[in-house]
Amino acid sequence: MVVKLALRDGTIREYPVAQRRGASYDRTGCGNQDCDHLECAIIHGKRMVSLQKLIQLASPFSSLLVLGIFVFTFNPLTDPSTRQISIPIILLIILLDVMVVFIFGKYAELNRKNVRELEEFRDQHTVNGIPAKQVTNQ
Ligand SMILES: [Zn+2]
Repeated sequence: MVVKLALRDGTIREYPVAQRRGASYDRTGCGNQDCDHLECAIIHGKRMVSLQKLIQLASPFSSLLVLGIFVFTFNPLTDPSTRQISIPIILLIILLDVMVVFIFGKYAELNRKNVRELEEFRDQHTVNGIPAKQVTNQ
């Protein structure tokens, strides 16, 4: 379920072609259960970037929704009995949101880098300027 590229400097780079779902994998870009097509790895990388960007974008909205429901339900602004516990919970929701945005931003960055490397290999047969060749999974 990976495209393996052997670089001339001896390193092996691996790029997934499909997302793992428990014990199995999603179908690859060509519709197979398993393959090592370069294009399928590029399609998968681009799909992951889109998904991770979407999660990154949706997280602040869902956090605002949760915050809104929380404030509406417990009304910490007017109810002094809930005020003390509300501040840590509100801070926790904001912290979780920042973590989700950061983590999925890192994943998206990693997948963008993978797509760039795969496209460079497809077009120039190099990875980061280093000559490379595709090796089989056996
Ligand atoms: Zn394929």
